[in-house]
Amino acid sequence: MFGLMQDWPLLMHKVLDHAAIQHPGREIISRSVEGPFHHTNYHDVRLRALRVSQRLQRDGIKLGDRIATLAWNTWRHVEAWYGITGIGALYHTVNPRLFPDQIAWILNHAGSRVLMLDLTFIPLIQQLAPKLEHIERFIILTDGAHLPETGLRNAVAYEDWLAEADGDFAWASFDERTAAGLCYTSGTTGDPKGVVYSHRSNILHALACNQVDCLGLGVADRVMPVVPMFHANGWSLPISAPMAGATLILPGAKLDGASVHEIITLARVNFSAAVPTVWMMLLQHMEATNTRIDTLKRVVIGGSACPAPITQTYQEKYGVRVIHAWGMTEMSPVGTTYQRKPEISGLDAEAALALQAKQGCPPFTVEMKITDDEGRDLPWNGEVFGRLKVRGPAIARNYFRHEDEAVLDEDGFFDTGDVATIDANGFMEVTDRSKDVIKSGGEWISSIALENAAVGYPGVAEAAVVAMHDPKWDERPLMILVMKPGAAAPDLAAMNTFLADKVAKWWLPDDLVVVDEIPHTATGKILKTKLRETFKDHRPKG
Ligand code: ADP
Repeated sequence: MFGLMQDWPLLMHKVLDHAAIQHPGREIISRSVEGPFHHTNYHDVRLRALRVSQRLQRDGIKLGDRIATLAWNTWRHVEAWYGITGIGALYHTVNPRLFPDQIAWILNHAGSRVLMLDLTFIPLIQQLAPKLEHIERFIILTDGAHLPETGLRNAVAYEDWLAEADGDFAWASFDERTAAGLCYTSGTTGDPKGVVYSHRSNILHALACNQVDCLGLGVADRVMPVVPMFHANGWSLPISAPMAGATLILPGAKLDGASVHEIITLARVNFSAAVPTVWMMLLQHMEATNTRIDTLKRVVIGGSACPAPITQTYQEKYGVRVIHAWGMTEMSPVGTTYQRKPEISGLDAEAALALQAKQGCPPFTVEMKITDDEGRDLPWNGEVFGRLKVRGPAIARNYFRHEDEAVLDEDGFFDTGDVATIDANGFMEVTDRSKDVIKSGGEWISSIALENAAVGYPGVAEAAVVAMHDPKWDERPLMILVMKPGAAAPDLAAMNTFLADKVAKWWLPDDLVVVDEIPHTATGKILKTKLRETFKDHRPKG
């Protein structure tokens, strides 16, 4: 027997309809790529998104077609997402920070028919255009007055293109499992992989994010995603903010400390989200200029582990609550956040901070477990670490154009590639990525734990730990350091004395090298594949 409730498909446009009906005047404030601040609201953005749908349809775009965006966070990008999905096409966000060849590869693999791009990216795309096999038209996200001569195929200014539609249009209707978005992982191992979100997964994920112990947005919030919409679905904020009726503030192309500070102050942002680097840059700016951010009350920090000193400074000096979050492109992306469970009340300040450094607990819709290499469940005691696996309605089950390759285990769990512990209260802590963990004598050593401890050594700017081959133990840790300008580098003995009370004795590195620079990925993570390649023949002296 089925329930007797209405069949109301979970479609992206329902979110924008709700925002426009219930919160029509709620603002969307953007720093435009052209320069000045731009103000609009949910009512107007909905009308323009309908015109995007209408205009795309007139260009022959159909259900299932991919429309790529190479764009900063602005109102136009938000309209594009809803306009594209409004006729059942997919927004395909492209990360401009990838290598140009990788961008071309991704656009070709996706088969995107249209590319919407910001003015910033015209030179990049002029260089790549001859290689882009499927793009029929380039829409530059600006008006006619700002459009330069580009030489790109069928190039048109977005505003001119949009003006050709009157908005007398209705959203298309289709199954809620229809694909809505496509985002490629950064491909640090092999070719990038396409993750395909559905309307249903996007809506369920945004509802999950809006639970009070997850991101928990509300009508009174003034939300600024600094995290770009091209990075893992913009952490759901372009969907969860309108769903909640929150004011949306979009920082455009300027993401340096001074610009982020300026927009927080001018637009009275009280909630924001970004990777740790952004929050470090803002701290440096405030310390250098002796300024504050008094409107800001909550920040989500994720994408990489958030170091405890950052959390402590924001919370104690600036009164901003830090929500440490973990997730990945394949998870739409939010997987866990720090939750103030009653079980942890009464912790002293130091213990509470240590707990916040963990990656946290999943919201409803995310299930997780840790297993050994054979797939056997491991205990939740905060000490044993294993492969972290996840399951839920907004988690990938296959990759685009690789639908035949199974990626889930027999119980339907997805292996995140992270290695983690889970404690008795359900708090997960990432100890490594599985390909980075050091397997010494059959036991695992966490490279992240060694790196986090090593950066506490005076004068160390950055630390990376990779495995080097060892005939007896199979692998042993090699520590690679970058020193701050003018600082004296420690030798192995000095470092190991420093680390002795911080990690297990058998974890201590067997060798240490100092370099000028450690390579990073396009999303700011240490590029361990490159380090392993560079140091593949490295053996400890003597
Ligand atoms: P990529 O950078 O590989 O394209 P994602 O942006 O999807 O992919 O990153 C996902 C990975 O980032 C996770 O599997 C995890 O290793 C890392 N990550 C994300 N958030 C955190 C966090 N808060 N702490 C530690 N690692 C994190």
